[in-house]
Amino acid sequence: TLTAETVSAWFGTHKVLERVDLVMAANSVTALIGPSGCGKSTFLRILNRMHELVPSAQLAGRVLLDGEDIYDSARRPIETRRRVGMVFQKPNPFPAMSIYDNVVAGLKLTGVRNADKDAVVESSLTRAGLWTEVRNRLRQPGGALSGGQQQRLCIARSLAVDPDVLLMDEPCSALDPTSTRRIEDTIGELRDEVTIVIVTHNMQQAQRVSDHCAFFLAAENTPGHIVEAGPTTAIFGAPRDPRTADYVAGRF
Ligand code: ATP
Ligand code: MG
Repeated sequence: TLTAETVSAWFGTHKVLERVDLVMAANSVTALIGPSGCGKSTFLRILNRMHELVPSAQLAGRVLLDGEDIYDSARRPIETRRRVGMVFQKPNPFPAMSIYDNVVAGLKLTGVRNADKDAVVESSLTRAGLWTEVRNRLRQPGGALSGGQQQRLCIARSLAVDPDVLLMDEPCSALDPTSTRRIEDTIGELRDEVTIVIVTHNMQQAQRVSDHCAFFLAAENTPGHIVEAGPTTAIFGAPRDPRTADYVAGRF
């Protein structure tokens, strides 16, 4: 379980998030929804300590992973990034590197040693729904795959280090409907083993894949904040705030 407690964030003096509280329960899928610029990607990056890589970035509040503060000074950022993986909008495999090496690259980046690489590659690609398509071409470059396959390769790379949480920032918005479905199926299969947080602008997708939803909003002079969070059925079926109702109905 990942818990954000009164998280606020700034870039320089520009405040972009205001007191965000959110519990992302283990073995569930949480969707973050809201208009462009309301701080969803910033919030995701805070959840795995990528936020602090931006020199002007500042943060207040706490993020707890299974009750432990990921920003505790005794913890290494790399350890948090191993336990909390990230998949981006644009698939970003290492294009010249083989499919096999792309998957094991995550192990090296996060300092996992002595892993049985062949076993990790097979299990990670299987969990990402890509194994049967690539098992006979593991030495081909990652860049030779289709966009949807590249995204599943990126998911496999994240899974290789056995993360507790997988953050996905609009993972399907660059993909065709078939690839989108494949990734949604993968999310459905992973939800029992990994805590998933997905940012999406696709309201049908949010309803298909998520158990819980948080609606973010920002306005002029109002930093991004959560207007309403709850079970996905409630956010879509019986929103309490009229702004949530308007947003999920596509009215802004
Ligand atoms: P979208 O739906 O378009 O992806 P978002 O909800 O993910 O939007 P963010 O990318 O988190 O929004 O941006 C939130 C605010 O923070 C915006 O005002 C943006 O300009 C600002 N911002 C994001 N990254 C930086 C950065 N590296 N430096 C300065 N400002 C930034
Ligand atoms: Mg974003």
